[in-house]
Amino acid sequence: MTQRQILVTSALPYANGHIHLGHLVEYIQTDIWVRFQKLRGHRTLYVCADDTHGTAIMLRARKEGRSEDDVIAEMRDAHLRDFSQFGIEFDNYGSTNSDENRQLCESIWKSIVDAGLVREKNVTQLYDPVAETFLADRFVRGTCPKCQAANQPGDNCSKCGSTYSPTDLIAPVSTLSDATPELRTATHLFIELEQLHEFLNEWTQSGDHLQSEVANYLKGHFLSDRLRDWDVSRPNPYFGFNIPDSPENSWYVWFDAPIGYMASTEQWCAANGGQLADWWKNDESEIHHFIGKDITYFHTLFWPGMLKTAGYNLPEKIHVHGFLTVGGEKMSKSTGTFVMASTYLNHLPPQVLRYYYASKLGTGQDDLDLNLDEFVARVNADLVGKIVNLASRTAKFVQQGNLSEIYPDDGGLFAHAASQAERIASLYEKCNYSTAMKEIMLLADRANKYVEDCTPWILRKDPERAHELKNVCTVALNAYRQLVLYLTPVLPDLAQQTNELLNVPIQHWDDSQTPLTGTPVSKFQHLMKRIDEKQVKKMIEESKDATEENEKSVVPEFHAADKWQDSGEALTKEPMTDECTIDDFMKVDLRVARIIEAGHVEGANKLLQLTLSLGGGETRNVFAGIKAAYEPETLVGRLVVCVANLKPRKMKFGLSEGMVCASGGGGKEVFLLSPDDGSVPGQRVH
Ligand SMILES: [Zn+2]
Repeated sequence: MTQRQILVTSALPYANGHIHLGHLVEYIQTDIWVRFQKLRGHRTLYVCADDTHGTAIMLRARKEGRSEDDVIAEMRDAHLRDFSQFGIEFDNYGSTNSDENRQLCESIWKSIVDAGLVREKNVTQLYDPVAETFLADRFVRGTCPKCQAANQPGDNCSKCGSTYSPTDLIAPVSTLSDATPELRTATHLFIELEQLHEFLNEWTQSGDHLQSEVANYLKGHFLSDRLRDWDVSRPNPYFGFNIPDSPENSWYVWFDAPIGYMASTEQWCAANGGQLADWWKNDESEIHHFIGKDITYFHTLFWPGMLKTAGYNLPEKIHVHGFLTVGGEKMSKSTGTFVMASTYLNHLPPQVLRYYYASKLGTGQDDLDLNLDEFVARVNADLVGKIVNLASRTAKFVQQGNLSEIYPDDGGLFAHAASQAERIASLYEKCNYSTAMKEIMLLADRANKYVEDCTPWILRKDPERAHELKNVCTVALNAYRQLVLYLTPVLPDLAQQTNELLNVPIQHWDDSQTPLTGTPVSKFQHLMKRIDEKQVKKMIEESKDATEENEKSVVPEFHAADKWQDSGEALTKEPMTDECTIDDFMKVDLRVARIIEAGHVEGANKLLQLTLSLGGGETRNVFAGIKAAYEPETLVGRLVVCVANLKPRKMKFGLSEGMVCASGGGGKEVFLLSPDDGSVPGQRVH
C-alpha cells in the first residue's frame, strides 16, 4: 500500500462556549478517522484551533471587565481539557488569534485583492452610539412592526413569526447598552464570488470532493443563480485582525477562521520540522475537512474560492455530518438533554460514547440520535458482552504464562476475521462507521460461539487437558486482539489495555493478519464495566440542575415582607448592568426640568420635539421617542428628569441636546419620571 499524506481538520470550536455532546459528534468522528489513517501507516496530521474573533467575544470581555485575550485563554484550557478526556488527540491545537494566522490572512488577502476580486460598498446598519459599535440583528430588540408585540428580536417575531429587518422594528433598543440605535453607513469590503462561479461549479459538481447531497444542495440553492458578493469586513471596533489596506475595518470572523487550519499546520511545522507548503501546496497532500451541515456554505464556496485564488491545495474531501438529537428531540436545557462534556464525564466513561456515536454514524448528513435507553443497552451488549467478555472468560486461565507456541487449529476463525480487514478498512475510509461496527460485532459473535463451544471453564477442571485449555485461550485471545485492533480508532484506551495484557502493542492495521504465539500474558486486569441507566439519569439530572441554578440566579424568591409581589418580568427582560461607582454615576448630570414646549416633528413617527427649561432661561432642545405614549399638549408644564450633560447629537430633524428619563420597553410602554412636589427646575438629582 502506498503511503498517503493526509491533513485532517475539525471545525474550530468558538471560544465563547464550552464543549457539549453535540460538538463531540464531530470531534469523535474526526478523531476516529485520523486514528484509523495513522493505524494504516499513512502520514496523517490532525489540526484544529479555537475560533476566537468576533463580536460575541468582544462583548463578553467588556461585560466581564477583562481582556479578550484573557477570555480566550481560559476557554482554550477548558476546550483542551474536554477534548483530551474524550481521547481526541490533535497534533496541533492553535488559535485564530495568532501571529501565524495574521500573516497568512494578510498574504491570502493580498492574492484576492491582486486578483481583482475585492469591491467596496456602503452598508447601512443600526449603530449603538453608546457601545460605539454596529449591531448584528441579534443585538437589537424592539416592538414587532406587524403584531406590536414588545421586546422582539431584530430578525423575526417570536409572537407572530413574521420576519423583518432590524430597521423595521418600532422603538428599537440596543441590547448592549439600551441606547436607541441609529442608522449609520460604513464602507465594507466584499469579495465578488461571482467571478469564481465557473470554478466553483466545476469543483463542487465533479469529482468526489463532496457528498452528493451536498453538491446538489449547492447547485439548487446557490450555483444556479448569480453568486452574491461576500461581505468580508466589519467596521472597528471589532475583535479581529485589522485589514492592512482598510485600517478602519477588520476581517469578518469567517474570513480568518478557516485560515486558522493553515496557521495551526504552520505551528506544527515550526515545532516538528517541515514547511506549510508540504501540506498546503503539494499535489501529494490530501486535505480533509470535517464539518457540521450548518457551515457547509462557508467551507464549500468561500473557502475553496480563497484557496484557489491564493494558489493553495483545494480540499480533497469535505465530510459533512448532521446534528445530535437526544431521544429524537433537539437538545434542550429544560429537559436536561443539553449535556456538557464535563457533566457527562462526572457520570460515564468517555470510551462508551465514542463507541455509541461510531455505531450510529453513517456517510450522510442525517442527524445522529442519542437514545439513552439504547445507549446503555448497546454499550453493555456489544462492548462488555461481546468484546471484553472474550478476554475476561479466558485470560485468567493463561495469565502469567504464555500463549501456545504454535497457533492451534481454530476452524478458520482467525483467517475469516483477517479476511475482513480490507472491507472494514474501506468502511472506515468512507466514514461509514455504523456498518463497520456491525461487521466487527458479527465477527465477535463468531468468536464468542467458539468460546462457548470449547467451554474453557470446564477444561480447566481437568489437569490432563491443560494443553487443550491453553490452545482454546490462545485462539480466544487472538480473536479478542484482532477485534480490538479493528476497534482501535474508536476505543484507543481499550487498545492500550489490550497491549498491556498481551504484551505486543497493536501498531498497524496489518497486525490483524498474524496471530500472536508464544508471547506472555500479563495478570488480567478489569477492562471495562457495564454502565447503568442510573448513571445516565444522574447525568440528565445534573444537566437540568445546572440550568435551574442559572435561572434561579435571575429570578430570586420574594422577600417575606413583600406583599406586592411584583412580577420579575421587567427585570428579566432587561437584566441589570454591571456595577458602577459613585464617580461613574456622578458623570451623568441628571436635572429636574420643565417641559415648556412640546410638538410633533414632521416626518417622524416616533418622536416628539420638547423644549426643556432648567430655569433661569437655560433650555435644551430634545427629541424624545415618546410619541406613541404621550400627546404633546398633555406634557407642557410638567416636570421631568433629564440628562443635562449628554453630548449633543445631530439627528435628521435637528440637534438633540439631552434626554428625558423614562422607564418601559418603548412604544406605548413609556413612562416619564416625575419628581415629588417641591422640586424645581435646575435641581440636580443625586
Ligand atoms: Zn409580531
